[in-house]
Amino acid sequence: MASHIMIVEDEPAVARGVQVALEREGYAVSVVPTGEDALSRFADVAPDLVVLDVRLPGIDGFEVLRQLRRETRAPVLFLTARSDEVDKVVGLEIGADDYLVKPFSVRELASRVKALLRRAYGELADTQTGRTLRRGDLVIDLERRRVTRDGERISLTTTEFDLLRHLASRPGRVYTRTQLLELVRDYEALEADERTINVHVSHIREKIEPDPARPRYIKTVRGVGYAFAED
Ligand code: CA
Repeated sequence: MASHIMIVEDEPAVARGVQVALEREGYAVSVVPTGEDALSRFADVAPDLVVLDVRLPGIDGFEVLRQLRRETRAPVLFLTARSDEVDKVVGLEIGADDYLVKPFSVRELASRVKALLRRAYGELADTQTGRTLRRGDLVIDLERRRVTRDGERISLTTTEFDLLRHLASRPGRVYTRTQLLELVRDYEALEADERTINVHVSHIREKIEPDPARPRYIKTVRGVGYAFAED
């Protein structure tokens, strides 16, 4: 799955512009209009990077960053309205990772995001080039969206492929069902709930696991969710 980016911005036109630009680059994007929303949804969305406006209607971007830093080191790109806010951004002890002064070009924003993701996570974050994940006997071709095991083609639905890609991109990282649901919600009916994820995972296991009853690749983390096996 593509890197997930959370945009915290109260101006709909700016939020929309940033969202479109990042989605065009292949990222998954969530938009929230306030700092309070960003903090309350952060754990569920589990973004890899946050684009954070300084001026927000409730608590401001500085306070959001301060609170986010208690739970995450995910890179944060600040959006500032005026150049005189830049001094404050640069001087922050908690540290934004980068910033842009409005008005900015969305192209510039996309290239900053890409650079930050690469710095934070390495090549895994690159959504641009066709890459292949190799995990044991599994080969996941991200560009052609094909999966093979021991050379044999495995047919997955769009949702199954995206879930598998997301899990396999970060072996060992545990995802809650709610986080995984966020990733596939676009394709699902609104009433989709966390049990939906169990069903998808069980289908993926039937297809990729040599013995679905004793999964080698996708592990259940009891009481939490799922993680792709390390090694
Ligand atoms: Ca604003």
